[in-house]
Amino acid sequence: MFERTMGGAHEALARYFGYESFRAGQDRLVQAILEGRDALGVMPTGAGKSICYQVPALMLPGITFVVSPLVSLMGDQVRALKAVGARPSYLNSSLTLGQQNTVLKRAGEGWYQIMYVAPERLLEPRFLAFAQAAAAPGGIGVPLVAVDEAHCISQWGQDFRPSYLDIATFIDALPTRPVVAAFTATATERVRTDIVNILGLRRPETVVTGFDRANLFFGVEEMGDKAKIAWIRDYALTHADESGIVYCSTRKAVDELYLKLAHALEPVGIHVARYHAGMSQPDRTENQVAFINDTAPVIVATNAFGMGIDKPNVRYVIHNNVPESIEAYYQEAGRAGRDGDPAGCYLLWNGNDFRLRRYLIDREHEGEAAGTEAAEFARQNRYRLLSAMEGYCQTTGCLRGYILRYFGDEGALGVEHATTGDDEAGCGNCSNCTTPYETEDVTDIAREAVLFVRDIGGRFGRALVAEALHGANNERIRSYRLNEAPGYGSLAAEPTGRIKDVIGQLVGRGYLVQSQGQYPVIGLGPYAAEVLSDSPEHPFSFTMKRRAAKAKAASRARVRRAVDLLRDEAEQPLPQAVAADLAAAPAPARQHVGDDADLFERLRELRRDFALERQWAPYMICSDKALRGMCRQRPASREELLEVPGIGEKKADDFGEAFIAEIARFEEEHAGGPDTPEA
Ligand code: ADP
Ligand code: ZN
Repeated sequence: MFERTMGGAHEALARYFGYESFRAGQDRLVQAILEGRDALGVMPTGAGKSICYQVPALMLPGITFVVSPLVSLMGDQVRALKAVGARPSYLNSSLTLGQQNTVLKRAGEGWYQIMYVAPERLLEPRFLAFAQAAAAPGGIGVPLVAVDEAHCISQWGQDFRPSYLDIATFIDALPTRPVVAAFTATATERVRTDIVNILGLRRPETVVTGFDRANLFFGVEEMGDKAKIAWIRDYALTHADESGIVYCSTRKAVDELYLKLAHALEPVGIHVARYHAGMSQPDRTENQVAFINDTAPVIVATNAFGMGIDKPNVRYVIHNNVPESIEAYYQEAGRAGRDGDPAGCYLLWNGNDFRLRRYLIDREHEGEAAGTEAAEFARQNRYRLLSAMEGYCQTTGCLRGYILRYFGDEGALGVEHATTGDDEAGCGNCSNCTTPYETEDVTDIAREAVLFVRDIGGRFGRALVAEALHGANNERIRSYRLNEAPGYGSLAAEPTGRIKDVIGQLVGRGYLVQSQGQYPVIGLGPYAAEVLSDSPEHPFSFTMKRRAAKAKAASRARVRRAVDLLRDEAEQPLPQAVAADLAAAPAPARQHVGDDADLFERLRELRRDFALERQWAPYMICSDKALRGMCRQRPASREELLEVPGIGEKKADDFGEAFIAEIARFEEEHAGGPDTPEA
C-alpha cells in the first residue's frame, strides 16, 4: 500500500504510470484529494486530468467513482488502466444485464479500485443501493467521486447534460460524503461557478492551468473548395505514417471528402476511415477502432467524432470547414498532440463556410419558438460565437494569441508583450507568426468603400459593394441600379477580390459593420466618422497586412516527425537517475550502435504485434515517447527500462523482456557496421 502522502503519490505515479513527476497543477489537486478536500481542475485537453483522480483512486482504500458522459471512452480507459496493473471497471448501457450483475458483485466484494459510471446510472435503485452500502460505516468505502467533463452540468456550456444534475443528489444520498473532485477543459467563469454551486463543492482546491498548448502549431489558410481537397490529400501523403483527423461540417461533406481522399490515398496504402452520426453503429465503431489502432491513419469526420477519443498520438487535425465557435475549434483541434509531441492544427476556409454556418443557425432557430425572446437570444449568441471565428480566420496577428485572448488567458504570451512592448509579439509557432507579411497602404480603397457605403445605405453585401466599386456591369448590379450610384467604378483599377479584402478589414476594425443573418449587409461602423471627417489636420490612413506572395508555399510549416524528435532529444541531458549512475561509475557510456530512427521503427513494429495480439490500441502498450526513450537510452535490464519515461512496473513485466531483446538484437546486427549516427 502507498502512504497517504505526496511521497506515496509519487510512488504510485512511478509504479503504475512510469512518470517521474507530476505536471504543474496535478500535484496540488492530488494533494488536496489525499487530504480529504474537494478539488476543481480546469485544464486544457491533454494536460493530464485523469492522472489527478486515478493516482488517488489507486492509493486510497475503497472504490472511487468516476462520472463521465463518454460511454464510448470508458472501455478504453479501463483497458488502459488494466494495462498498467490497476483494477478498474465500468458500468454503462453497453454492458449486458449479466455483465452488469457480475461487475456489481465483484465491486461489492471490494475487488475494484475505480469504477467509471454514466450519470444516468447514479440514481438507479440497484446502483444507488450498492453505492450506499459501500459508503456506509463498515462498507468497502468510497473515498472519492470524480466528475469528468464537469462543464456538462452547466446550461451555459454547449454540452449540457440534464443527468449531470443527478450527481449532487447522488452524493447527498451517500451515508458518508466522499471527497468530490471535478474536472473540465472549459474555462469560462460562468460555467466554473455553475460547477462549484450545482455540484456542491466545498471550498475546492482550484487549479486553472494556462490554456496554451505549446506543442500545437496553428495554421489558417483561405482557399477554394477544390484547393482544400488537394491540400488535405498532399498533407496526408507527406505524413503517411502519422495519424490525423479531418473535420467537415456536414455528413454530406464527410462522405464526399472521404471518397476523394480514399481514391487518392488507398492506392498508396494509406487507409482512410470515416465517421458521422448518419452511419450505422457497427460501421461507426469499426471506423473508430481502425483509427485508434492505427490501421487507418486518417479519419474524415463530423464533430460527432472525438468526444470519446483519447488517442494520444494524433499528429494533425485539419478542419476542412469552419466550426461554429472558437470553443468548438479549440476542443476539436486540441485532440492533436495529447502526448505533448509536436502536432499541427490547420483550418482551411472560404466564404462558403460562413454562408453555410449562417444558414444552419437560421434554420435551427426557425422552429415554433422562433421570435420568442429566448430563441432570439440564442440566435444572437450563435452569431456572436461565429463572428469570433471569422475574426480568427482573418486576423493577421498571432493565432495562438487570438485564441488565448478569447479564453481570457494571455499569460503565456503576455510575458513577451511586456518585454518587447510590441503588440504584435507572437508565439512563433503559428502560420501568422511564421509567414512574412507585407504592409500595404490601402487608404484610397478604404476611403472610397466607406463613402460608397454611406451613400447607398446598408442594403448590400460585401461582394456586391466590391463589384460596384470595381465597376462590374452585370445583371445584379443593374437590377439594383448600382451602376447609377455615385462612386460606381471609382476603383476600376483594383481587382474585386482586393476590394473585398479591404472591406473585410474595415469591418474587422470597426469602420464598417456587417449585419448578421444569412445575407449579411454592410453598413457604417462606429469609427466611420474618422474616415468621413478626413482632412489635412486629421488625415485618415489605412494599411493592411497581406501575406508576402512568395511565402505562400512555405507557410505549410512542417511539423517535426519522430526522427527529428529523436535527434533533438538525443541532445538533451539524460534523466537524472541515469546521469547520476554514470557519474558514480564513470564507465564509458554504452556503445550507441545503429541509427535511432531505424531502431524506433523496429520497436514500433514490435509494439504493433503486441497490440494486435491483445486487441489493444498500440498506445496502450506504450507511448511513442517511451519508444523514443528506449532508442536513446538503450536499456539492457529491467531496472534500466524502468528509467524510460512512461514505463511502469506492469509494462516492464509484460513487455520489458521483448523490448530489451529486440534492442539487443538490433545492436548485434549493427555492431561492427558504420556506427554512431552523425549529429
Ligand atoms: P486530459 O484528460 O487532461 O485530456 P490525459 O489525462 O488524457 O489528459 O493526459 C494526456 C497525456 O499526458 C496522457 O498520455 C498521459 O499519460 C500524459 N501525462 C499525464 N500526466 C503526466 C505526467 N505527470 N508526466 C508525464 N505524462 C503525463
Ligand atoms: Zn503565433
